[in-house]
Amino acid sequence: MKLKLLVLLSLCWTTQSVFTQKDAPKLVVGIVVDQMCYDYLYRFYPNFGNGGFKRLMDKGSHFRNVTYNYVPTFTGPGHASIYTGTTPSNHGIIGNDWFHRPYNRGVNCVDDTSVTALGTQSVDGLCSPHFLRANTITDQLKLTYPSSKVIGVSLKDRGAILPAGHLANGAYWYDYSSGKFISSSFYFKSLPTWVNDFSTQHPIASYLVKPWNLLKDSSCYYYSKMDDTPYEVLIAGKKKPIFPYALSELPFDQQLTNFTAFPEANTYLTDFAFAALTAESLGKHATTDFLTISYSTPDIAGHAFGPFSLEMEDMYFRLDNEIARLLTKLDKQVGKGNYVVFLTADHAVVPVPELLTDHQLPGGYLFLADKEKGLRELSMQTFQVDVIDRIENANIYLKKAFLNTPMTINYLNTFKAAIGRWSETKLVLTKEELQQAPVNNWAEMMQAGYDPERSGDLIFILQPGFLPKSTDTPGAHKGTSHGSAFNYDTHVPVLFYGKDIPQQEVFTPYSITDIAATLVHILDVQRPNAMVGKPMVELFIKR
Ligand SMILES: [Zn+2]
Repeated sequence: MKLKLLVLLSLCWTTQSVFTQKDAPKLVVGIVVDQMCYDYLYRFYPNFGNGGFKRLMDKGSHFRNVTYNYVPTFTGPGHASIYTGTTPSNHGIIGNDWFHRPYNRGVNCVDDTSVTALGTQSVDGLCSPHFLRANTITDQLKLTYPSSKVIGVSLKDRGAILPAGHLANGAYWYDYSSGKFISSSFYFKSLPTWVNDFSTQHPIASYLVKPWNLLKDSSCYYYSKMDDTPYEVLIAGKKKPIFPYALSELPFDQQLTNFTAFPEANTYLTDFAFAALTAESLGKHATTDFLTISYSTPDIAGHAFGPFSLEMEDMYFRLDNEIARLLTKLDKQVGKGNYVVFLTADHAVVPVPELLTDHQLPGGYLFLADKEKGLRELSMQTFQVDVIDRIENANIYLKKAFLNTPMTINYLNTFKAAIGRWSETKLVLTKEELQQAPVNNWAEMMQAGYDPERSGDLIFILQPGFLPKSTDTPGAHKGTSHGSAFNYDTHVPVLFYGKDIPQQEVFTPYSITDIAATLVHILDVQRPNAMVGKPMVELFIKR
C-alpha cells in the first residue's frame, strides 16, 4: 500500500501534469442587450443575416418564456439579477439610483468615491461593484479558479461592472468626457497597456464622423413609412426625428454624449471587446474565461424613439451585424464548439404611452411634481409638518426624525390612502407590508425588489401602460421608459448557443434569476451565495 502511494507520488513529481478543467467551455460570453423586447427577435427576423441573432436562435437553445420576477426593471437591477441569480431583495441593487440613508444622499448603483478613476479625470471613473451584496456567477468562477479571466465591457458603467462582479480582472466603460474606455482603481493600479493602445488605434473621432443612415433599402423596413412620428424625442441638432442622423454639426462634448445613441457606438464596443479578447487571450487558459458584454446603445436610443420606430428597426439590423462579427471572432480565436454564448436583456420597454392612448389602449402619465406637492401639503395639513424627505423611483422616504416614532405608521397610512386614490396607482405598500406575506403577485414582485436599508418607507406601482414623468410639458408625451412589473418590461429574449447546447425552442416559463443557475452547471461551480434561481434543465437533457 505504502509502496503504491510512493509510486503514485513519484509519478506526480516526475511527469509534468497540466491541469485541465472537466468538460467546461474555454470561454463563456454573456451578452446583455440593454432594453430588448422579446418580440424584436421575431419582428426583425426576416431582415437578420444568418450569422447573428438567427445563428443563436436557430442553432442554439431558445427560451421563449423568460421574465423578470421583481420590480423595478431598470438597468442596474437587471444586470445584477442576471449575474447573481437573485433579486434586488438579496443583491441590494434596488435601482440605478436610490437615496442611501447611511450616506444621507442619493447614490448611483456603482458610485464609489473611495476609488481612483483610471484613464480619465472625470467622476465617470469613480465606480466599483461595492454596493452589490451578493456574489455573481463570475465571482464564483474566479473564486473556484483564480486562473480564469473575467472581463466586463459596456458603454454604461453599471453594464460593465455588475456582470463582471467583485473579483473581475477588469471592467471597462465609456467616459463621456473623452470618449475613451476607462476603469477604476478597484481593479488595478493603472489601465492595462492594451486599453491605452486601443484608444490610440481606435480614436473616437473615427467613429463620430460616420452618419447614421438606413442600412438596407427602405423597402425592407416594416416601419419605413413611420420615420417621422409625434412620439419620438428629438436628438440634439434635429428639427424632425428622421434619417439621416449626423453628429458633425454639434460641439464636440455633445457629439460624445449623442454618440451613445448611435448604432456606431455598438461597433465601438464590439471593437473594444475584440481588443480584450486578443490582449487577455480569452479562451486560451486552463480554466474557463468569462467575457461580459452589455450593449447600452439600444436603451439610450430606445428611450428616445420607442419600440415601434424606424430607428429601432435599423438599430437591430445593425446590432445583428455586431453579433455576427462577434461570433466569427469567437470561432477564430476560441474555435467553434469551444465556447458558450448567452444573450438576454436587462429589461424591455413600454410603447410610448401617448401612442397607446392615441390608439385607445390603456396607459398614460403620472406627473410627479404635482403629486409630490400634494403629498407635502397633505402632511402639513394633517401633521403640521412636512415629514417627507424625498421621492425616488416611486419610493417615498420619510425624514430621519420621523422614522421609528409612534406616529410613523400614521404618516405612512395617510400617504398610502392618498396615493391609493390616484387613478394612476395600481398598488401601494408600506415597509411593514413589504415584509409580510404578499397579497398578490404584484406585491411579491415589489418585495423581491425591496431592500429595508436602501428602499423607501412606502412604495407604489402604476397601472399598466403608465409612466412617471416630472411635469406635464409637450415633450413629456414623447419617448418612453421602463421599470414596471408588467410584461412589456419583463418579457425578454434568452438564447444559449455553443458547446453542448442543443438546438431547441423551450416554452417552459423561467425567471431571469434562472440564467445564473444554469451557468452553474455549464461552469461546474458551486452556486453563487444568494442565488435563488433554478437551472433551465432542458439545456442539459442528453438526446
Ligand atoms: Zn433605460
